[in-house]
Amino acid sequence: MIIVMERGASKEQVDHVCQHITDLGYQPHPIFGTERVVIGVIGDEAGRERAKAALEVQSGVESVTFILRPFKRVSRELKGERTVVDVRGVEIGGSKFVMFAGPCSVESEDQLMSVARSVRKAGAHILRGGAYKPRSSPYSFQGLAEDGLKLLSDAREETGMPFVTEVVSVRDVELIAKYADMFQIGARNMMNYQLLREVGMVEKPVLLKRGLAATIEELLMAAEYVASEGNAEIVLCERGIRTFETFTRNTLDLAAVPAVHMLSHLPIIVDPSHGTGVRELIGSMLNAGIAAGADGAMVEVHPQPEIAWSDGAQSLLPEVFADVMETARKFVEAAGRTL
Ligand code: PEP
Ligand code: MN
Repeated sequence: MIIVMERGASKEQVDHVCQHITDLGYQPHPIFGTERVVIGVIGDEAGRERAKAALEVQSGVESVTFILRPFKRVSRELKGERTVVDVRGVEIGGSKFVMFAGPCSVESEDQLMSVARSVRKAGAHILRGGAYKPRSSPYSFQGLAEDGLKLLSDAREETGMPFVTEVVSVRDVELIAKYADMFQIGARNMMNYQLLREVGMVEKPVLLKRGLAATIEELLMAAEYVASEGNAEIVLCERGIRTFETFTRNTLDLAAVPAVHMLSHLPIIVDPSHGTGVRELIGSMLNAGIAAGADGAMVEVHPQPEIAWSDGAQSLLPEVFADVMETARKFVEAAGRTL
């Protein structure tokens, strides 16, 4: 439910309504806008008619309506203003187009440092790199684990870029939280509800990637799981979905970008690397993502893609990434943002 308070409602009236919501067994979620206060009411759907009737008659309440979408906290119905997520000083969802770049996997100090330096020089804002890899084969490289997190921390120290890294298991959340500036939940784990809840309990931004076969609504419901535990610092990521097409690894569903902006207040970025799997297509799909209104993008970069331990075919050489950034800059400016 959404309670719209009267213009000029007092703090006492807002507090009183929040207390009443709690007494009814729901959770109040007040949002203080410039003009008026709106209170989200979250909880069990059963009994909501009775609760609505009880809340409508409270002093200072103008109207009470149900949130129609199944996702509540992350919905635009609850919060009209866009959320800006702060990742150690880098704001996602504001006027800046935020570029995440780095290798698919952290392989060695030399590899990571050289990529980090070059993407920083080209204008990237956030370093990416996997230390725990969700590989299709159990025999493939699974990541350097804590050693990888240490290397990412060293790269942050040297370049000043915050870093995002994937968490694949509830077991690793605590350790990764000690190092990383942002958790990444990968496509394969988008429906791992235990993991979503676990990162929802930590005060750290979450990059939530769309599942390989997930609808936009399922992506937003996954975000709702994170937000339901208290952590609403969520950035969504369109990384391509499975279709009948085989030339590309996935089909980057660009309509998801304006659709998410229509349905949710959360920012969304695009990942043209996993979204295509073909390095020659990355620049074009990045520019298309910018035109679609994305708040940022994630691109994989490797100094020697031909010997990369994962995702070499979609990794850009550092100098190619720098060119891609220069072209993207023009699209970002045309979209009314800065890079
Ligand atoms: C990744 O970012 O390296 C990754 C594994 O992505 P996804 O979960 O989108 O496949
Ligand atoms: Mn990858």
